[in-house]
Amino acid sequence: MKFHEMDKRKLEKALNTDFTAGLKEVDAVKRRKQNGYNELEEGEKQSALLLFFSQFKDFMVLVLLAATLISGLLGEYIDAIAIIAIVIINAFLGFFQERKAEKSLQALKELSAPQASVLRDGQWVKVPSREIVVGDLLKFTSGDRIGADVRLIECSSLEIEESALTGESVPVQKYPDELTQGNLGIGDMENMAFMGTMVTRGSGVGVVVATGMKTAMGQIADLLQNAEVMETPLQRRLEQLGKILITGALLLTALVVIVGVIQGHDLYTMFLAGVSLAVAAIPEGLPAIVTVALSLGVQRMIKKNAIVRKLPAVETLGCASVICSDKTGTMTQNKMTVTHLWSGGHNWTVDGVGYEPKGSFYRGDNEIDISNEKALQQMLMFGLLCNHAELSKKDKEYVIDGDPTEGALLVAAMKAGYNRNSLLNQYKIVHEFPFDSARKMMTVVVKDQNGRQFIVTKGAPDVLINVSESILWDGKRQYLSSEMTDNVKGAINDLGSQALRTIAIGFKEVSSQTILMDEKEAEKDLTFIGLQGMIDPPRPEVKQAVKECKEAGIKTVMITGDHVITAKAIAGQLGILTKDSKVLDGNALNEMSVEELEEVVDHVSVFARVSPEHKLKIVKALQNNGHIVAMTGDGVNDAPAIKAADIGVAMGITGTDVAKEASALVLLDDNFATIKAAIKEGRNIYENIRKFIRYLLASNVGEILVMLFAMLLALPLPLVPIQILWVNLVTDGLPAMALGLDQPEDDVMKRNPRSPKEGVFARGLGWKVISRGFLIGIVTLIAFMVAYHNNPDHLAYAQTVAFATLVMAQLIHVFDCRSEKSVFSRNPFGNKYLVWAVLSSVALMFVVIYYPPLQPIFHTVSIAARDWLLIMGLSAVPTFLLAGSFLISKTK
Ligand code: ATP
Repeated sequence: MKFHEMDKRKLEKALNTDFTAGLKEVDAVKRRKQNGYNELEEGEKQSALLLFFSQFKDFMVLVLLAATLISGLLGEYIDAIAIIAIVIINAFLGFFQERKAEKSLQALKELSAPQASVLRDGQWVKVPSREIVVGDLLKFTSGDRIGADVRLIECSSLEIEESALTGESVPVQKYPDELTQGNLGIGDMENMAFMGTMVTRGSGVGVVVATGMKTAMGQIADLLQNAEVMETPLQRRLEQLGKILITGALLLTALVVIVGVIQGHDLYTMFLAGVSLAVAAIPEGLPAIVTVALSLGVQRMIKKNAIVRKLPAVETLGCASVICSDKTGTMTQNKMTVTHLWSGGHNWTVDGVGYEPKGSFYRGDNEIDISNEKALQQMLMFGLLCNHAELSKKDKEYVIDGDPTEGALLVAAMKAGYNRNSLLNQYKIVHEFPFDSARKMMTVVVKDQNGRQFIVTKGAPDVLINVSESILWDGKRQYLSSEMTDNVKGAINDLGSQALRTIAIGFKEVSSQTILMDEKEAEKDLTFIGLQGMIDPPRPEVKQAVKECKEAGIKTVMITGDHVITAKAIAGQLGILTKDSKVLDGNALNEMSVEELEEVVDHVSVFARVSPEHKLKIVKALQNNGHIVAMTGDGVNDAPAIKAADIGVAMGITGTDVAKEASALVLLDDNFATIKAAIKEGRNIYENIRKFIRYLLASNVGEILVMLFAMLLALPLPLVPIQILWVNLVTDGLPAMALGLDQPEDDVMKRNPRSPKEGVFARGLGWKVISRGFLIGIVTLIAFMVAYHNNPDHLAYAQTVAFATLVMAQLIHVFDCRSEKSVFSRNPFGNKYLVWAVLSSVALMFVVIYYPPLQPIFHTVSIAARDWLLIMGLSAVPTFLLAGSFLISKTK
């Protein structure tokens, strides 16, 4: 017998589990040991050894190794060994950089690993999905991805989309009853749910029948492997640029060799120098350093509660020009408390602290006895009946488990002395139509002890009033005339303008024989009872974050399902709604085409009473107007908009699996301010990448030019091959990495967003690279010529002076690279990594110059103290020239 044919008792036995208390934790651990983790096997990973050897696959490195071999055969052992040592150290550096990049990407994947609700030792607990075992009871609701193959035992309006397995994108209805047919396809097993499929509606409980590779998904897992590694636009651009740079470097190097040979240098020396120069000048390490900078940035973002799921988002973040954010929970605290109530023209207030179910009810200033207020009682009681939230006490504090809106209604009812369990003894829930944010209502069908059947609905008041035909007024049911409707609307606006979120309660009695399976049937002709208004205070840090975004040229737009008046009040408090911005509601949006929306969207800062479907329209209109849009969301229906946005943002706490999977960024704390922090980090990462590109390329240009100029002037070689390689390894590598860790400049959030079309060398970077490279080349050449002129018989001395000048000119330049302005615009020593990197490069240079055993290897000789004046003076010239020109341009 197959699982889908079994009844509950047989299932329980076959899987050796307990449907009321679940598995015992110890048994779950045992089963996991026996059957392994619930995960799909991953494709082959590149081994460490392979990764190491891949460092040598670069063509020029191979040529260098071949050239070294030749020089070794010709008897130049020291040179050969030194060059090979440097190449190997370089390979290790590349290896570690790539390993680090890979590891941090892996860590990211683990951080966003899915969770599941399982019943263990009688308690529902959240565990990582990989810890699910056969026999576990699994609970899921709309928006969850199913963690293993389960046989359903409870379903409430459950619908699951199984396209991952069946290709059919229309969700399938699910029922818990056993099926009689033995051989069924996946699509027909309506009492089963499969790993990787997605709950689109309702909720359910099932017992796990298969995990890991034994699931239906596991059987097609091969198809799903090799998840794509995404490159960022910058990485892609650098790859293209890399080809141009390599060609350029090779051509210039060839020119150096040709001119050198024409000027009378011997071919062998020029060849080795040329190859070393090519290896040094080709920025082969650039992509790896970029990846490391990106992934280190991603780690910094994690510390600020933002998880980047798609690496390209790091870059796009820096271009964001509009943030569309949900209100509830993202801008507000989602800690709701009912404070005001209204029914039949009467107003009440209720006091209390936090979620503690203690408080008194007042009419005006007078405390009232609730037993005299029938409408109020009924409203509170129904609010508790149509409700899933639970209240518990953790560390002496009351906490809500479930939807905070329902939590507020629960606490309000408890303050009036209601208790859910005794209420459920009076009313049995026979059916439920779950809340969804498009309908904005939730309904339960209940039967009382006398067998009378009622519909109880709660939802957005302006929606509920439209499906009501009568109203409870002074204890009597009255026809809902337009005058009455206006009364209710007045009350809704009154509560809304106090920034209160309002929920209306309605009901009707239906014949006890009626079986209601259609929500449209249930949610009509209701009797409107009244309103409960709840405060949801703004998060304190949001106002400042909105202000900073504004200064950074980023507009904040509030998108909420809440009432227009409530949304307006909160947007006003947070500085989102200003004199010249507008509010648009869902009805108006329905009437507009995307083109019509485009015309007004730039002036709208609040969208209220919208459905998740509207979000896509808003994203499109903004994008068509040239904006780079960040859009938040949490539910299943938010996924299309999250995917369409340039930066899809999902909530880490309240977000569904589906929303998270669609997103590029997950907010661990659901907080708007975290988006701002991520944007700041995104801008900084991009700037840091520009900083080290500027540094590395200017250094390379300098290295090539000093050689080229010397050849053109018929001078001897100013640098020997091993010196060039050493500069490439020590002087270039460490400081460039340190630049990747630089702090943002003060004004990083005071500039407008970068255009996503901007090239790598935009904003004058190309000119900076070439001019600085030129200057570095010139000062090195001058140092060489002066030293050579002073002592023509001692070429090694002049070469050592040139070497020291090149190193120092680069190490001074690195401080310039910290700012797009001048070196003096910020504390040059503010980046301690950079200071250490530079100090160690200087120290290593001294070792190479003054430590006798190394001198023959690096062809160096000790430099006299007075020549250091020459070296230091010359290497500082470019920085002073730059600072000077900056000052002149400022005073103009
Ligand atoms: P945001 O999009 O900013 O998160 P929101 O949470 O108010 O806004 P929804 O959750 O879509 O958006 O809620 C829309 C409206 O539906 C609310 O204003 C409220 O009136 C009503 N509502 C919210 N939660 C429930 C619920 N659990 N049951 C019934 N009605 C609800």
